[in-house]
Amino acid sequence: MRIVVAGGGWAGCAAAAAAAKRGAQVTLCERTDQLLGTGLSGGIMRNNGRFTAAEELLAMGGGELIAAADLCARHRNVDFPGHRHATLYDTARMPVAVENLLRALGVELRFETRITRAAVRSGRIASVTSQRGEEFSAGAFVDATGSAGPQANCAKYGSGCAMCALRCPSYGPRVSLCALAGVKESALPRPDGGTGAVSGSCKLDKASLSAALRTALDERGVVITPIPRALVRDKLALKACRQYALDAYRDNVVLLDTGSAKLMSPWMPLRELRRVPGFEQARYEEPLAGGRGNSVRLLAAVGRDDAMRVLGATNLFCAGEKAGMFVGHTEAIVTGTIAGYNAVRLLQNLPLLALPRSLACGDAAAFARENFPGLRVTFSGAEYFERMKQLGLYTTDRAAIRARVAKAGLTGVFAR
Ligand SMILES: Cc1cc2nc3c(=O)[nH]c(=O)nc-3n(C[C@H](O)[C@H](O)[C@H](O)COP(=O)(O)OP(=O)(O)OC[C@H]3O[C@@H](n4cnc5c(N)ncnc54)[C@H](O)[C@@H]3O)c2cc1C
Repeated sequence: MRIVVAGGGWAGCAAAAAAAKRGAQVTLCERTDQLLGTGLSGGIMRNNGRFTAAEELLAMGGGELIAAADLCARHRNVDFPGHRHATLYDTARMPVAVENLLRALGVELRFETRITRAAVRSGRIASVTSQRGEEFSAGAFVDATGSAGPQANCAKYGSGCAMCALRCPSYGPRVSLCALAGVKESALPRPDGGTGAVSGSCKLDKASLSAALRTALDERGVVITPIPRALVRDKLALKACRQYALDAYRDNVVLLDTGSAKLMSPWMPLRELRRVPGFEQARYEEPLAGGRGNSVRLLAAVGRDDAMRVLGATNLFCAGEKAGMFVGHTEAIVTGTIAGYNAVRLLQNLPLLALPRSLACGDAAAFARENFPGLRVTFSGAEYFERMKQLGLYTTDRAAIRARVAKAGLTGVFAR
């Protein structure tokens, strides 16, 4: 049983882990030299409904990436505007922790391996080939290549390449396996008439902040500094992450500690940022041109069923931002786990698993499909978190979550 996963962001890592645990030989191809993709710039886990989804996954036996993020946490149980009980992982430690975990599960990791061709016959992929000409055959494939960039899209829908963690100029543009297989992709139509969405945070070099800000960040994990009135700019409508499209993020510089100082704004002109007290020497760490713009995402998602099988393809699954307008690491891990697990079930001639709607993980997968492509879905805010609350799906009671999973007959379903 051979599975090839294209893309080593959180979704691809989760798919690879789930497939390896079910006994498949898994090769994970990542176009850059590091795992985690946009997760290199992230860090926020377990905020709001993500806590529930994370605990469901743990109860289903698919939570090793969640546990790894918990272990790499710099802060736990942090509250910030609109968000409660967040965990903030250390973005420097996280990629290596995930790499070690996947190697321990027997996943073959191929870095600087950008998939650029696919041999497809009647909707079935036989093999994929990298830019360097290496061919990988498998019985089933997972497309976890994300939806961000490449450069041309950041120029067309944003303000040009901001030099983000994806490093398109160095490693070549994102290539979608679904597109190579002839599957039609959709971009997010923004309510303001735009296309896609601008990434909603940047990383500042902590050493460039005042000593008072650094100390407060290290101690509390969050620091909120009012922006002088003349410098307040409204970028909320552009943000990929609608859960942070709140006035508090327009009127304040909200910083979170992920090892770097995570600035919860899509961008802010450097000269203006340096006029905020404590930021006089501020320097962007990522994207390097965070004073000017940020990456554009949600540009390339596909139709799929709730088992994450791509519509119009036989042996192709999808996960993460490719699998709908999902925003977030937890969302990528949940969909990746379903995709990797089902890719193996397909090869075992077993029925594919769609999680039931009695679980937040199952309901979110179905809700994102039903509202595709117009609605962004995250457990952590906006419409879907409201829905979780209305349906009684949101809880931080671990015992209740385990009982819910047990009632669905899914305890340990993703375990080795
Ligand atoms: C700046 C920023 C901050 C964020 N902060 C948070 C946060 O704090 N918390 C949170 O929950 N979410 C956050 N998000 C959102 C979150 O990172 C994503 O929604 C989620 O991680 C997407 O994962 P993914 O695996 O689907 O895609 P990606 O992370 O985009 O990963 C796709 C991977 O595929 C690779 N790839 C592309 N094409 C190919 C190919 N042809 N062959 C091989 N590899 C290929 C790419 O190099 C990349 O590594 C943030 C996003 C950004 C951009």
